[in-house]
Amino acid sequence: MDSQYGVIVVGAGNAALCAALQAREGGARVLVLESAPASARGGNSFFSGGWMRFTHQGAEDLGKSFPELALAGTEDFDVLSYPDNEFFDDMTYITEFRGDPDLTSLVVQQSRNSMEWLHKKGVRFVFTFSKQGIKKNKRFQLGGGSIAVSGGGAGLVEKLFESAEEMGIEIQYQTRVIELLGIPGKRVNGVRIRNSAGELVDVKSHSVVLASGGFGASTEKRTRYLGPGWDLAKLRGSEFNLGDGLDMALAFGAKSAGHWSGSHAVAWDASAPTSGDRNRGNEFSRNSYTMGIMVNKNSERFLDEGVDFSAITYGKVGAEIMRQPDSMAFQIYDSKVLDILDPNYNGRQVSRITASTIEELAIKLELDPTLLRRTVDEFNASVDVTIDFDPNTKDGKGTSGLIPKKSNWANAIDVAPFLAFPVTTGLTFTLGGIKVDEKARVIDTQNQPIEGLFGAGELVGGIFYYSSPSGAGLTAGTVLGRTAGREAALDALSSPS
Ligand SMILES: Cc1cc2nc3c(=O)[nH]c(=O)nc-3n(C[C@H](O)[C@H](O)[C@H](O)COP(=O)(O)OP(=O)(O)OC[C@H]3O[C@@H](n4cnc5c(N)ncnc54)[C@H](O)[C@@H]3O)c2cc1C
Repeated sequence: MDSQYGVIVVGAGNAALCAALQAREGGARVLVLESAPASARGGNSFFSGGWMRFTHQGAEDLGKSFPELALAGTEDFDVLSYPDNEFFDDMTYITEFRGDPDLTSLVVQQSRNSMEWLHKKGVRFVFTFSKQGIKKNKRFQLGGGSIAVSGGGAGLVEKLFESAEEMGIEIQYQTRVIELLGIPGKRVNGVRIRNSAGELVDVKSHSVVLASGGFGASTEKRTRYLGPGWDLAKLRGSEFNLGDGLDMALAFGAKSAGHWSGSHAVAWDASAPTSGDRNRGNEFSRNSYTMGIMVNKNSERFLDEGVDFSAITYGKVGAEIMRQPDSMAFQIYDSKVLDILDPNYNGRQVSRITASTIEELAIKLELDPTLLRRTVDEFNASVDVTIDFDPNTKDGKGTSGLIPKKSNWANAIDVAPFLAFPVTTGLTFTLGGIKVDEKARVIDTQNQPIEGLFGAGELVGGIFYYSSPSGAGLTAGTVLGRTAGREAALDALSSPS
């Protein structure tokens, strides 16, 4: 490793690799430092489903920039245009009006050209139906968030690593960055690392981009910031996102921002491993709760399962489960909806309990049969039978007089066999971060940019609160990563060597 780089990028997930590529395109000499070994590279981005949300004008427009989407054909579905204001509104709705409007606008406005930039790096896209496909008059209507990277998150990072290698970007694995060098709050000029031999080494650079993710993998920080019980949450992704970048930035005078007690967390198979499984990825997701009911260990329902499509609500459901006894819940369905559950429900090693009566199901789940019977009976009695059940639209088939109510898809649970899926909280990523401005410059506690220091990805706070719209995390990482890389290169090339 040389002693002088233009730009050091901390981390090797989506945001970091986008920053590194953009900085290299800007003419800087770039070094990427990644704490994981090469065999575990790619951060949370690797584990992601690869959904990427961006603005467009519908099928014809998409086909011009992404020929693979034109080839996909649109005989069976319509692709609705997804303009800036809709993307912005989706962000506002999910974040409950708390998101930083400037950063949100940047993400929205730069989303389309960032996808075109990814396309030039070899990334290819596909339409997806499972999250936001709404069927109207027998045709699917695909709204925002219906496009994913071919090959998912693994496909995305593979293409980015290939591009980085082609562009001669140096990547050091098993290299944990532990400290920023320079004058805290003023100017950064490198990083201190612990290299693969366990030695502490200082590496100099003109600029540093922090893109090392959130603190989801730190049991201690989860408990400290998210609250009691979160130490027990299962991790959906990387075990290397320990919050180091956040610690370093705060110690260097950066301002904290965003939702430190919040996270994106989903319903996750209770028997899933404690952190992400690189071979089984998203198999443990249980996002079809809109089609049934969820009860806790007291056999009580605790949320409106049908308040909206799971594409909108899934990232908030994990926190609701965390509030239940032993952070556990059971999704209960009857045979009427089995065919429309997400394919993950039929995957290998799925925790699934089947019974021919509700009482038998309760006994198998170690719940009180009388209580579960009562919950199901009360639910069934409250269902509006005058409205037809339609899983493809918000059908308005709700409950009346029930607390909590179910707003849509309230279908009586009355046809055996009955199925239950035990779930717990699956933490996707944390939302507490560092304040950056629209140039991705890290802002200090005096509201001034720290010279030479940039941030991108999950490490940035203030874009997402409570959850995020599906596909927005990767898009935000790409947009802010590119911004950080471009600005870091400009900073490096304008600095006296
Ligand atoms: C299972 C799952 C599914 C998801 N699906 C989607 C989806 O479909 N669409 C979407 O938009 N979002 C999705 N997300 C969220 C998305 O993955 C994240 O928002 C995004 O990947 C964050 O990218 P990042 O580059 O900031 O962080 P990461 O990709 O996590 O990269 C951070 C990197 O920094 C490294 N690092 C940490 N500390 C150090 C250190 N001290 N020194 C050096 N390196 C360090 C880590 O090892 C890691 O490689 C999903 C997440 C998960 C877990």
